This record gives sequence, structure tokens and C-alpha cells, in this order.
Amino acid sequence: MMVEAPVGATMHPLGAGDVRTAIGDLSLSGLRDVVVEMGYPAYRGDQVGAWLYRSSVRAFDDMTNLPIALRHALGSRFRIDAMEVEVEAVAADDETRKVALRLHDGDVVETVLMRYPTRDDGTGAERATVCVSTQVGCPVKCSFCATGLMGFTRNLSTAEIVGQALHFLRWSRANPPVVRNVVFMGMGEPLMNYDATMGAVALLVDGAGLGVHRLTVSTSGWLPGMARLIDDRYAVRLAVSLHAPVDDLRSSLVPLNRRFPLAILLDACWEYQARTRRRVTFEYTLLDGVNDTPALARDLVRLCRGRDVHVNLIPMNPVASLPFGASRPEAVDEFHAILRAAGVICTIRREMGREIRAACGQLRTEVQGRSRTAVDAVP
Ligand code: SF4
Repeated sequence: MMVEAPVGATMHPLGAGDVRTAIGDLSLSGLRDVVVEMGYPAYRGDQVGAWLYRSSVRAFDDMTNLPIALRHALGSRFRIDAMEVEVEAVAADDETRKVALRLHDGDVVETVLMRYPTRDDGTGAERATVCVSTQVGCPVKCSFCATGLMGFTRNLSTAEIVGQALHFLRWSRANPPVVRNVVFMGMGEPLMNYDATMGAVALLVDGAGLGVHRLTVSTSGWLPGMARLIDDRYAVRLAVSLHAPVDDLRSSLVPLNRRFPLAILLDACWEYQARTRRRVTFEYTLLDGVNDTPALARDLVRLCRGRDVHVNLIPMNPVASLPFGASRPEAVDEFHAILRAAGVICTIRREMGREIRAACGQLRTEVQGRSRTAVDAVP
């Protein structure tokens, strides 16, 4: 069972025709520059940043330690919310919440909150992770992905990316555990929208105070972006959507592989690892009868041997319009066992939120294009 409800009324509606700039598109130093331009000392910009990213306020009037004239000046030039919640779906166990967020121009993106309880034996800490989107649709068009089916509309701005994380950061402060992890793994290929993605990383680290090691950027293998990431000052965790350990199969699942085949992709992974000393994660969605055979598990072992990698096996969330099914549990177990027996660090991702269409792109596909009234009518 699930609860699904329109919740737009709980947020400020985005004013039609509002031409103010989203303040989330400014860096922290940009905030300082703006207040200086307005005739105030630079530290006022730091105060604005603290209100936006430490307290997640949603109105300039709530920035109570700022002069009222500055609050008004900011409010006439900038808006805080870059999006509003169109619909929210909550799993029955309350571990997964997914929102479809309507952007300023009417497009819709998805954001997911995953809350992990302590283990059954009482060990491990409760934690919460937000999965954010970086593009509307996706140009990579992976053959098993609901987002890939949509095609590509546009890149998200920094404000639209960081706004997704802030939405659940704010919510989780009142409903612990508080969000400490953000994964850039929702709709889109983050490294094809590099500047906005890393702008959001900077605001989350330097503004919201999240540890850079708690931020994970995922890529399907966009090498120009990986080359920039290798030199970036923010050493985020890198997750590579591998999905197949051999080129022919990978090219059929992730078309980008034709341009940047496995050998080149892996070289970039190892270079990133050498620079950052961080373990690289390989995401591997298991598709029934396609990439889940024991032979392919052994190919994957060869590719991982001697490397500091973590393989995350992801049971497929079936999408009605795609010809792929979830691997049988026995196939998942055997694949996992082969990797583990060879000494590869490997986990099976817990299935979360299947009943609320948690696979990327599914909720957005349902919401986009409906009228507001139709969405509100979802039971
Ligand atoms: S799996 Fe990721 S990279 Fe591939 S189409 Fe979907 S969103 Fe894009």
C-alpha cells in the first residue's frame, strides 16, 4: 500500500511570469558579491548563505539577522524556490519518499529520499540519502531506463539541483534521520551537465556542510566530464553505471559505450581513483537473461581483479513499456556469489519503493503532460 498525494499547496507556488533570478544559481562567493553590490559588507552574503543552506529558509523575511532593507532588496531581485512539489509518493513503510517537482518552465523532475533503519540486529546507524536529478530527461538513452525513453529536454540549473537536496534536507530536519548523503543518480547524466552539478556539490559541501565523501556522482561513462572530475577540487565519490562487463553487450544497453568503450572508461576510473584514493562503485542493474549469467559474472570479476571497487548489484525495477524483466532471485544470488568468492566487494541493493515507481523516470513519466487537475486526482 502506498500514499500518494498532491502537496503543491504546502509550498509557495511559483509565480507565473516571475522573472527574478533563482538565488541558488549563485555560488557562495557570488552571494558576497551581490550584497557588496547592494552596499552591504561581504559578511552579509555569508549570512544569506547560512540561511539558505544551513537553515533552508524559504523566504527572505525569515533571514532575521539581516537588515530589513537588504531582505527587501534581495527579494525584489531573487527568488528562493526553484521548483514546487507536484505530487509526492510515500512507500507504506515510509522508507522511500519520491517527489515529482515542477520547474519554473513547467517541466518535471524526480527526487527520491531513501531512509535506512538500523539493521535487524540493532547495528548500524539510521541514515537518509537523497537521490537528485541533473537533467530533464537524458540524452544517453540506456535501453532499460524509463528516463532514457523520454529523450532529452534540457539541463537543470544549479538552483534546481541543489533545491532538490534542500527539499528533503529541510523535511528530514523535522523527520530524522537528517539527510547526510546525496547521490547524483536520478534523471540525467550528471557529467554532461558538469558546471551545474559541481556547483550544487560546492553549495552542499561549503554551504550545507555535508562531507564531500558523502556525495556520489554517477556517470554512464561521459569521458569529457570524467576528465574534468579527475582535476576537480571536490573529490566526490564516483559511481559508474557499468551494467555489462563486455563491450558488445554494454553498447546495446548503454549506447555511450560505442563512443567510449570499456577500456577507455576503466582507465579514467583508475586515474580518478589514483588521484582521490576513493573506492569506485560499479552500478550493475541485473536484467533477466541479458546480463545476469555466471559467465558474465566471471567477466566482471576479471575486470575488477586487483582494483579497489565496490560492485552494487541492482535488481531491475520493471518498466511496463520496456522489454526487460528483473533477474530471478536465484540468478541474483549466483551472480553475487561468484563475485564474492573471487574477493570482489559486492552488495545487492535493497529494493526500495517499487510500489511507488522508484526507478528513475517512472513517476515523472506519469506526471508530465497531465493537467494539474489530473495529477491531483491520483488516489
Ligand atoms: S540509466 Fe542514467 S544515463 Fe542511462 S538513460 Fe537512464 S538516466 Fe540516462
